[in-house]
Amino acid sequence: MGDVDGAHLRPTSIYLDHASTTPLRPQVERVMQSVAREGFANPSSQHTEGRRARRILEDSREKILSLLGCSASGPIHHRLLFTSGATESNWSALFGLAHCENGTIATSARDHESLRSAAQRLSEEFHWDVETIPLNSHGLIDQNVLNAWLDTSRSSPQSILSNTLVCGQTGTIQSRFEIEKRTLLHTDITQAMSLLCTERDYSDCATITLAPHKFGGPRGIGALLIRSDIDFKPRYFDGTQEQGMRGGTEAVALAAGFAHALELTIQERHDMDSRLHSLRNTFESAVRDIALSRNLDVVIIGAHEKRSPHISTIGFSQRDRQAIVLAADLAGLACSSGTACASGASEPAPALLAMNLPKQLIQGAVRFSFGYTTTDSDVYRAIDILRDVIV
Ligand code: PLP
Repeated sequence: MGDVDGAHLRPTSIYLDHASTTPLRPQVERVMQSVAREGFANPSSQHTEGRRARRILEDSREKILSLLGCSASGPIHHRLLFTSGATESNWSALFGLAHCENGTIATSARDHESLRSAAQRLSEEFHWDVETIPLNSHGLIDQNVLNAWLDTSRSSPQSILSNTLVCGQTGTIQSRFEIEKRTLLHTDITQAMSLLCTERDYSDCATITLAPHKFGGPRGIGALLIRSDIDFKPRYFDGTQEQGMRGGTEAVALAAGFAHALELTIQERHDMDSRLHSLRNTFESAVRDIALSRNLDVVIIGAHEKRSPHISTIGFSQRDRQAIVLAADLAGLACSSGTACASGASEPAPALLAMNLPKQLIQGAVRFSFGYTTTDSDVYRAIDILRDVIV
């Protein structure tokens, strides 16, 4: 096949958009190719080939749970439902947790669009009350602000709190909430690559969303983890597969690739964390210097809070983010101007709007995001490109 868009083939291009998606790790690709051959059969078939595929699928499921520290070792654990990605996991979570009419759900601008739109649909179809919890100026939810909603939610027949551990726009990390047991907590850890580990305690989460394409795994698969004591009723993806919660023959090779990508990410986590921290520091201080030399105000958004090292969103005052992204792209640097939508246009990210940042900073806010392929040389070349682009 010819070079259709050529973007990924440009030898000089620098990819700083890992928060959108990451390139597939070669080791993961190899695992998937071999599983696609030996585990090609339908896991629901009774013959030997089918049983082999089933075993690979279930081993992958168990491996992911155990790598996340969620295996069935105690009375309360999580089970894992494979989905098509984080968007489906988020929709399934909210609709699977909501059992009645007139419940209440809290979301925030930190959440991915899929969570906010699923909550909106709960309101339209089942008359749920949707509360948008305001963010503080760092893009985080303060416990005392949340408490106001928790107080009012007590009179509701059911309450769900949607939480995003690492914000996809700012990279800021939400600290743990104190909530009563009656509130069901859904946590989206899709951007939490640097926090993935076996030691984290997810016992307060009724449901958890993640997707491997954010850490070198395949696209087209995600996971929803469901705590074993939760009465979960799938509403949208009813079917005979995935414990009766989803339809469609399972994608065994994608599941194996997911498990392998997670394993590599957790193995490399400490090294990668410190490497990305240092790359990001170099990048941010160079960009600040460039801006200073041009008498331009810049703000590193979320810099004063705990942030995942893979995201750097920089507000260039009185500059147009789309113009920066397009000019950077022409010069061979891929970065992002907000929430990409199907048309390729972009709106300012709701998280930035909710932080009450000055309008001219939001208009000029560009997200640079790093990952396992990012090298020192990528960062230096990106800085050189920005020197020409930020004029
Ligand atoms: N949740 C978060 C926090 C995200 O950042 C994204 C994608 O950027 C999603 C969900 C949706 O992911 P997917 O493309 O796998 O549906």
